[in-house]
Amino acid sequence: MILLDGKVASASVKEKLKTEVAKIISNKQRVPHLAAILVGNNGASETYVASKVKNCKEVGFQSTLIRFDNTVTENVLLNKIEALNNDESIDGILVQLPLPKHIQESTVIQAIHPEKDVDGFHPINAGKLVQGLPTIIPATPYGIMLLLEYYNISTKGKHAIIIGRSNIVGRPMSILLSSNLLYGNCTVTLCHSHTTNLKELCLQADIVVAALGKPAFVTADMVKQNAVVIDVGITRVDDATSKKGFKLKGDVLFDEVSKKASAITPVPGGVGLMTIAGLLKNTLAVYQKKMR
Ligand code: NAD
Repeated sequence: MILLDGKVASASVKEKLKTEVAKIISNKQRVPHLAAILVGNNGASETYVASKVKNCKEVGFQSTLIRFDNTVTENVLLNKIEALNNDESIDGILVQLPLPKHIQESTVIQAIHPEKDVDGFHPINAGKLVQGLPTIIPATPYGIMLLLEYYNISTKGKHAIIIGRSNIVGRPMSILLSSNLLYGNCTVTLCHSHTTNLKELCLQADIVVAALGKPAFVTADMVKQNAVVIDVGITRVDDATSKKGFKLKGDVLFDEVSKKASAITPVPGGVGLMTIAGLLKNTLAVYQKKMR
């Protein structure tokens, strides 16, 4: 069994990014600059944003964290995004999701200029992805593709099953794996909460991508021998034995499924780290496009 180690694969991506930044600096140009907006103080969101900022620093990017409290109005947020859209020194903008209920996420996503949308959530970027045009790929599916590439996992002609159809993970993942790409060309089945024969479908799959947000949902009896298993899920589960009071759990019951899988991602240490790698690559790409 191969452990698809996000730490190793993301370190390799980050090394290449550092080399690019060194070239930028030696050409006396400004470095890529990411603006991250965080609304409220949701513990998981705080952790994700802190990690994004830290990783920007690690590869030599500039980053600016803009915080609003939970009561911020949609208008104030939209005005800030507009200012960042017009700010020449900002290359990429991300708004950490989820947002408070009184703010419409789709309105906020659509307010980000598509060329600064480093999360790749804007409908223009999502539409380009569907048509196979050059675009910004959402960071998590992009990170998974980078992981498949790093470990040279063969995908051509394989049956991939994706559990979860969100716009940020499952749906773009289904498009990438079914696209005519080196690590694509799968036959894809996209499952969701109304899929009736999930176990039966999973048992046919050579590649399983679990992205539903239900800890330990995928058990060994659902997985074919030697399947490749990608666990996207991250859920905080209460755990009194841990210092933080919780543990991060994936959507796959790792101890069981790893005995059957030919390759599998751990949680933590798998897709989460690759998501950051995808985000950093997107930030460099939007910067390079602008500087051309
Ligand atoms: P979401 O809640 O938007 O979507 C969940 C999807 O799962 C839905 O499409 C739903 O139809 C499907 N689903 C729910 N129950 C199901 C069931 N019983 N059978 C089949 N399908 C079912 O979630 P999301 O934003 O896509 O995130 C999914 C998980 O991935 C969460 O745990 C989230 O924290 C995690 N996540 C991780 C990363 C990362 O970097 N590793 C990034 C994004 C999301």
